[in-house]
Amino acid sequence: MKIVLCVKQVPDTSDIKWTENNTIQREGLESIINPYDVYAFESVLRLKKKYEDVTITALTMGPKQAEGMLRKLLAVGADDAVLLSDKKFAGADTYATGKTIAAAINSKFPDYDLIVCGQFAIDGDTAQTGPSIANFLDIPQVTYVKEIIEYSESCLTVLREIDDCIERVKVKLPALICVLQGDFEPSRASINGIIRAQKAVIPVYGIDDTGLEPEDAGLKGSPTYVNKAFRAPQKDVECVYTDSCTELADAIKCCGGLNE
Ligand code: FAD
Repeated sequence: MKIVLCVKQVPDTSDIKWTENNTIQREGLESIINPYDVYAFESVLRLKKKYEDVTITALTMGPKQAEGMLRKLLAVGADDAVLLSDKKFAGADTYATGKTIAAAINSKFPDYDLIVCGQFAIDGDTAQTGPSIANFLDIPQVTYVKEIIEYSESCLTVLREIDDCIERVKVKLPALICVLQGDFEPSRASINGIIRAQKAVIPVYGIDDTGLEPEDAGLKGSPTYVNKAFRAPQKDVECVYTDSCTELADAIKCCGGLNE
């Protein structure tokens, strides 16, 4: 089974600093692998340990520096990695991002079986990219995947978490899944893995490798734009101590938190 794992490099949002104009101060901000993509990676590593014929190609669309993230994934167990990087991809919204990644997969990995994304990226947080890639490739998709159960007869069986229930879903490959947070201990790189990752040649693909026209990608290919970005107003938190549940319910009612 040939897997393309889509990973995004994101700013470490636990360490965000804001400018006076309420924009993110990106200078000096550390970049990390999107945490949901770490879960996605762990799920496919488990699959690779279970089935002999699984190969993982890590793919990211981003700046040249994203190569460092790809090398870390190679050190831990990805077989190959590719970087989509071109000035013409800059300013892409989720539509153009999905279209570019789908076009690159179609052009460079037409024989893929499974595309794996994280459910969300912790910076943009739209959860649109995975479904958008599936839509452009016209393949089935399963979102909110908690666990991959098995792979047999060109089908993947997964557990999907929605609201207060778990669904068991069987999907025919080729397909795309978006992976939620799982109960995983992140795998570590081995010494051999690190040496292999350092030596690996990571191809960099640009717009000419995707078959797209410049007006399909980046800002030009983006039908949406950010109208305004602002900091959410902070609510004052009041601590109320009560002796009984009835008193507590009255206190909540007073704050407008409960209907009569
Ligand atoms: P989600 O959809 O929440 O991510 C879900 C999953 O999709 C991830 O876990 C990952 O598996 C996959 N994924 C997402 N992005 C990538 C990627 N790049 N490569 C591989 N896999 C991926 N961002 C910029 O960095 N520079 C810009 O100039 C820029 N301009 C923008 C302009 C507009 C008008 C808009 C709306 C957005 C812009 N963005 C820009 C943000 C960019 O569109 C998003 O970062 C990107 O589309 C992913 O969306 P998301 O962060 O909501 O990810």
